Formats: sequence, C-alpha cells, structure tokens
Amino acid sequence: MSSLLNKNIEYLRGVGPQRADLLKTELGLFTYLDLLQYYPFRYEDRSQFHTISSIHEGMEAAQIKGRIVSTQKIGSARKQRLVVEFSDHTGSLELVWFQGIRWVEKKLRVGGEYLVYGKPVRFGSKYNITHPEIDILTPTNSKTGGFKPIYSLTEKLRKKFIDSKVIGQITFNALQEIGSQIPENLPESLINKFKLIPRFQAFHLIHHPKDFNHTRHASRRLKFEELFYNQLNLINQKLVKKNENQGHLFQKTELLTQFYEEHLPFELTGAQKKVIREIFADFKSGKQMNRLLQGDVGSGKTIVSFICMLMAIDADAQCCLMAPTEILATQHFNGLREFADLLGMRIDLLTGSTKKKERELIHMGLRDGTTKIIVGTHALLEDVVQFQNLGLCVIDEQHRFGVAQRAKLWNKNKRIHPHILVMTATPIPRTLAMTLYGDLDVSVIDELPAGRKPIKTVHRYDSKRLEVFQFLRDEIAKGRQVYIVYPLIEESEQMDYKNLMDGYESIARAFPEEALSIVHGKMKPQDKEFEMQRFVKAETSIMVATTVIEVGVNVPNASLMIIENAERFGLAQLHQLRGRVGRGVEQSYCILMTGVKLSNDSRKRIQTMVETNDGFRISEVDLELRGPGDITGTQQSGIVDLKIANLATDTKILSFARESAQEILDKDPKLKKAEHEMIKNHMNSTKSEAVKWSKIS
Ligand code: ADP
Ligand code: MG
Repeated sequence: MSSLLNKNIEYLRGVGPQRADLLKTELGLFTYLDLLQYYPFRYEDRSQFHTISSIHEGMEAAQIKGRIVSTQKIGSARKQRLVVEFSDHTGSLELVWFQGIRWVEKKLRVGGEYLVYGKPVRFGSKYNITHPEIDILTPTNSKTGGFKPIYSLTEKLRKKFIDSKVIGQITFNALQEIGSQIPENLPESLINKFKLIPRFQAFHLIHHPKDFNHTRHASRRLKFEELFYNQLNLINQKLVKKNENQGHLFQKTELLTQFYEEHLPFELTGAQKKVIREIFADFKSGKQMNRLLQGDVGSGKTIVSFICMLMAIDADAQCCLMAPTEILATQHFNGLREFADLLGMRIDLLTGSTKKKERELIHMGLRDGTTKIIVGTHALLEDVVQFQNLGLCVIDEQHRFGVAQRAKLWNKNKRIHPHILVMTATPIPRTLAMTLYGDLDVSVIDELPAGRKPIKTVHRYDSKRLEVFQFLRDEIAKGRQVYIVYPLIEESEQMDYKNLMDGYESIARAFPEEALSIVHGKMKPQDKEFEMQRFVKAETSIMVATTVIEVGVNVPNASLMIIENAERFGLAQLHQLRGRVGRGVEQSYCILMTGVKLSNDSRKRIQTMVETNDGFRISEVDLELRGPGDITGTQQSGIVDLKIANLATDTKILSFARESAQEILDKDPKLKKAEHEMIKNHMNSTKSEAVKWSKIS
C-alpha cells in the first residue's frame, strides 16, 4: 500500500522527466510522499476584499482596495522606516516598511489607487500592516482571486516556470491519482480522541484549502502524525537500547557510606537525593544507563556525580569526568581531589596542556587501574587513553559536546559499555528535551541548596556607569568579588578585544587600589589558569573577562556580575553568566549594561532576565525568540527534522503525541496487537528515517 506513496514522481501527470529532475535536485522531492509532504509555508487569501472598517483583530490577512494619502520617512538614517497612510471610504490605516524603503518609495504615488494585502496588527486605535504586498490597482487584480497556498521555491525553479501554482497543480494530480488509497496511519482511537481528520483529507486540505479553517484542521492532523511517529521512534529506540545493552552492576555501598557519614560537607537537597536514587536504580538494573541530568546553575550537580562515582569505584570500576574547557576541568579536578584525598583514592587531570611525561604516567595509571577517577577535556577521547575497566562516564555541560564524542567514551570499554551520565545546566525546554533527548532518561534537580538568595538582576543604561561603579565599590568594600564580562564574537573580534582592553584600562583607572584579573581567549591556557586561580584565591577582587568564564566556574565569594553590552548576548548565555554569582550565602546581583537603542528582541531578552531566575522559563523564551534550530547548535538541528510541526509553538500537540506514543508502547511494546498493525506498517515503511534517529545516540 505504501508503495503507492513511494512511487517516483517522474510518472506523475504534469511532471515528466525534466521537471522530476528539477524537483529532485532543487527541493529533494523524489516520491509522491515527498511531494505531498512539501507543505505550503503560508497561504494567501485572495477570495474576498475587505474594507478598512471591517478589519478586526486575529485576522490572518486582509485584502484592501484604497488610496495612498501620504508617505513619510521616520527615524534616523540607520533605523529608518517608511510609513504610508492608506485609506478607503470606510477609514484609514498605516502601511509600514523597515526594509527596501527606497525601492518601495519609487513604486508609490500619493493619490494613486492600490491593492494592499497583508496581516493587520492593531496599534492603539489604528491598524497597521508591516511589509504588505502592494500593487497598482488594475482591472485584473480588482476581481477576487482564490485561496492560494504559497510554497518555498528556488530561483532556478522559477526560471523554469515552476511556481506555487504548478506545485499546487501537481499535488492535486497526485491526490487525484492515489488519493483515496492513501493509507491511514493513525489508529481510530487516536483519531477520535483528538478529533483529527483522516490522512487523505489532511493532505488534500493542506494543499487545496478553501479557507484558514481548512488549513488549521489539516495542519493539526499532520503535526500530530509527525510528532507521534517522531516520539514513537525515540521511545522505541530507548526500549531497544535498554534491552540490548548489558550494564555494569554497582551495588556495594561501603565507600559511599564512609563518605556520606564522615566527609560530606553539607546536607544534600531533596532533589539531589531524588536523582541519586534514580541513578542508583540504573546501577542496580544490570542494564546500561544513558541518563541526562538537568539542573540549573548552582543546583549542585558535581557532588551528585561524585557520589555516583563512589558506587562505581566500590565495584572496582573507573570513572571519567569530561568538561568542555580546561578551566572547568581544572576546577572540577581541584574540587573532587579534596574528596578523593580524604578517601585515599587516586584522581588525575588530563588536558591538552598536560606535559608529556605526566601524561604517560596518567595513561599508565588508567591502564593498570590505579587511577580511579580521571577528570579532563577532549584529551580524554584520544585513542591512547585506555582504561582497565571504565564503568561510569560523566559528561559536564553537554551542549558543547557532540553525539560522536559520547559514542567514543562509550567504546572505551568494549566488554561492558560504561554508564553515561550527561549533565547540563542549559535548561532545555521540556518540548525540546523530549525531542532531542527522547532516547535518554531524564533526571532533574529542581531545587537549589537551602539558604541561596535569588540573584537580583537590573538593567542599566551606559549613561549610569558612575552609579554602577559606585555600587561595585560598595560590594568590594564588603569583601566581595566582582565579574565584569565583555562580549566577544568572531565576526567583530578585533573591535571586541579593543573594547575589552579599553574597559580593563578604565576599570584599572577607576579602581587603582584594587587588584584585577583578566581572562580572555587569546591568552595561553597556563596564563588563563593562573589568572583564574588568583581570582579563586581572592588575591584579586575584580575579574574582567570574555565569556570564557561562562561555564561552571565556581567562586562563591563573587557576588556581583556586570555584563557589558548585554544586548549582544543570547539569553542562554546571559543566564549561564549570571549563574557565576549567587553561589554563596550573600545576596548577589547582576547588572545588565546596554546602550539606549535596543531591538525588540534584545529588549525582550533583557526584560526576561530582569524578571526571572528560572532557567526553564528563560529557555522557553529563548526558544520562542530563536527557534529550535539555533538553540542547541547546528549539530543537533538535523535531528529535529520536522516538516510541519514547530517545537516552539506546537508544545501542546507534542505533549499529546508523546503521551499517546508512550501509552501505546507501554501496553504493546512490540506493536503486536491488531489495532496497532497500521502503526507498525507505517514505521516499517519509513525505516530509513528510523535509522537516522538511531544515529543520535
Ligand atoms: P552546578 O550544578 O552548577 O554544577 P555545583 O555542583 O558547582 O553546581 O555546585 C554549586 C555549589 O553549591 C558548590 O559550591 C557546591 O559545593 C555547593 N553545593 C552543592 N550541593 C549543595 C548542598 N546540598 N548544600 C549546600 N551547598 C551545596
Ligand atoms: Mg557545574
């Protein structure tokens, strides 16, 4: 049945070998299914004209005939906008352009009659339309048109006269040919439960709707289907892996008890205890663990990982902890060494700058099993690093590492793969976590150690610098330490370095009596480390730095974080940076410095930071502003290869889809029941994609 959908489009009416070739090379469309899943990215409703007075909120689009009353340019040359007053016999509205102003201006004549099309948005008592389509009114366009799907196409296709209309026509032909034979791929129970329309109808209405009502029904159905199978594959993957891979058994608790009773410097939080229990359950299951540990900055993930390591070591296994930067690895090493020393166990540090001789000793210690814990950077991944019996890999700050690296660690013990614990402080919105890490088990530390005061965050314009410096002075007078962070990006590296150095000098001038540290990416690792250590030991009171300090660094006495040009940082980055303070018992502060001119997005980012300390909330706003592709970097964006669903906005459908998939696999893990046969068939017919999914872990 599904072979119908897998037919080559070459033989479809209206296509033929030449067009088929173009559609393949330009859009990657090979089969009928590819074509049907090449969804319009928007629609144009030309089926009726609107008068200005009939415009109302929530309208997707309006088509209006009217006259240009006036045009004017507003704002400075760099941030100009063109505002056009447009009216018909019922009222007037504003048309606004931010881009291509000169070109638009040439096209427009005050007093002329035009046809305008776009999404009206209310501003006070008036509506405006930004970047509308606008054409001189002609006898042809003054008649109503239809409801038109618009497809994303390439220049080359257009040159060969393949436009949205043509795509619409051939999808129509495809549906005519095989339409009613398109197999349904969702069980009736789900269709009824979520009131979904049938698959064939959805394909038809997404490509040939009469109105927005049609497109809504169609897209809801297709999004559900897409997310349902996405989740089904992920959850299935997880089940398969669980059953396939034998894991180390860690059951002895002697070391752990000793540490707990004699050395643990504080009471664990309830959330820490909870995740430790979850991890221990994995250790005792006999299956290999793949677990993601999410916890906001400062929630105490490190000690959790150390306690887990003790279980492994008690069972004669070795542990590694991999961090993304040398500074962070060193800090982890120093922290854990204190504990390891108390217990009399060997721990080593391996990074890019470990000297050859020492490196060889470390390699030996790992091979003969005397080294119990190795902390390090990417250097750990090298093939020369061999273990006697690696049992647990902890990966800190996962977003910097790729999946390939996870796999490399996993293969460092071929006899029994080590358990993997991935720790991240980047709060990933639930929706994204479900999709990106749907194949991992997730534990969350959702509680900060007692006594922490929430960081107070404020926004200050550069013009208030003197006051900010006074505040800084007061904090230092109380014995606190301060971070001042400057942006640094590749594209403007030279200027950014200049800003950083200028800033450093002006701070040195303003605080002649204070010892300063500076850390940036151009310094040698040893120098960076040296400066960091001076700050850690409180020999310096101000740390001027670029974002190299973003992850992990722990100086509890630092209570003030000043972020320069805060508008240039992403939300996730701001949150990470802010997490460097608020680690001690004192009240901590974060000051976001910006110029007065801010884009809407920057303003929203700053505002979000001021309003909340909640990493999950922040990540949601981040997802809204940036879209999912960006959020975890290009590496992972391929995984979220969705054709119609949008992870930022379709959170509800995703939750339903995931719950449904989970429920079905709980009841019928092998999909053996008759009612699930269509699911199984569909999964088999899209196997190639399932393989892609399995690659991610
Ligand atoms: P993160 O989760 O950001 O990696 P860390 O593991 O660096 O956080 O912990 C932050 C700080 O909190 C460290 O100084 C650590 O010793 C301390 N800490 C961790 N757990 C607790 C706890 N239960 N009570 C008090 N302090 C804690
Ligand atoms: Mg950490």
